[in-house]
Amino acid sequence: MSNCLKFDLNKQKEEGCRKRKETQGSTGVHRGEEAADSICVRSGLVWCAIIHPVHFKGRCSSGSEKQSFHTKMEHLSLPPLSRVAICGGTHGNEMTGVYMIREMQRQKVEKAGSVSITTVLSNPPSVDACSRYIDKDLNRCFTNDLLSAPVTDSSPYELRRAQELNAQLGPKGSAEAVDVLVDLHNTTANMGLCLIFYSLDWITLHIYKYIKSKMPSVPVRVIQLDIPLAEAYSLESVAKHGFAIEVGPQPNGVVRADIFNMVKEALDLTLEWIQKFNSGSIFEGGEVEAYSRTTNVDYPRDPTTGEITAAIHPELQDNDFKLLRPGDPIFQSFYGETLKHQGEELHPFFVNECAYYEKNIAFHLARKITLTVPSVSVKKE
Ligand SMILES: [Zn+2]
Repeated sequence: MSNCLKFDLNKQKEEGCRKRKETQGSTGVHRGEEAADSICVRSGLVWCAIIHPVHFKGRCSSGSEKQSFHTKMEHLSLPPLSRVAICGGTHGNEMTGVYMIREMQRQKVEKAGSVSITTVLSNPPSVDACSRYIDKDLNRCFTNDLLSAPVTDSSPYELRRAQELNAQLGPKGSAEAVDVLVDLHNTTANMGLCLIFYSLDWITLHIYKYIKSKMPSVPVRVIQLDIPLAEAYSLESVAKHGFAIEVGPQPNGVVRADIFNMVKEALDLTLEWIQKFNSGSIFEGGEVEAYSRTTNVDYPRDPTTGEITAAIHPELQDNDFKLLRPGDPIFQSFYGETLKHQGEELHPFFVNECAYYEKNIAFHLARKITLTVPSVSVKKE
């Protein structure tokens, strides 16, 4: 029996554990029984805590070492982070990343102290066209299935490009993969500065803590996508530690100096943290508040034509991350009706993101969670 069941979990959490155990079984990375026994479990954190050893073994230690945790989160010594990739233009109309990468390449930024830096314009034809993509959303092409799919010259451009990027910066899940990958995105939603990452990654969470502490005037948040690595679909998943920096609001095809400066500062702080880490600084652990994505909400649509019949309600518009309670307005139909939120209290984000109309997403919903992060320092050889 899974140790997940030892705890008082609700059905959803049990399902999360089951799903996770299946993943663990299929990759052979770690067994759930060890995972649950060997981690600090705080009230309400079990669901997240259980996945940690899987992630840690799979992505941080190349599976060569077992780390164990007891009743208190122990200090972690992790390998140095010597190779960093910074990517932009994964979506060709999100201009902060495009201009950031071009400027770094113009300045020939290839090193920051102990760290080698690779800058990548991920999707040049879509940048030239100032469109999100040419054939297919590149940032949905990094699942294991798509990265191993046979391709020919007639395959969608982005499928071929994803495999090129995986060869250059990965391969995903391998010891050769870059240590850290930061992919720069913009959103039309009023989300401030967000780091988006998969599962649990202590390096990303420490970088988030550092950025948040150094940029007090900017709303800085971290969003967790609870997806197994094999199914993780975006570019940053090819690295050992990867995250997207998602900043908005900024319209597609537009560059704003205030948002550019925000991203530049976050990038500089990321590189500063990595250099301090490599040179032996100890980073204290602690509690981190994160948003864990639970579900998507589509626009109301005409059942015959599929066209949307309502817009985001003015009370929800621009209120990303504000707690949404049952009965709160979410849509205003074009014939004047107000539609209300039903179900549990959750936090909306990517509210009215331009690129998500075609994906049938009006906004995402997240649960606010607290993660207990261990203190970390570099492993001395
Ligand atoms: Zn994007």
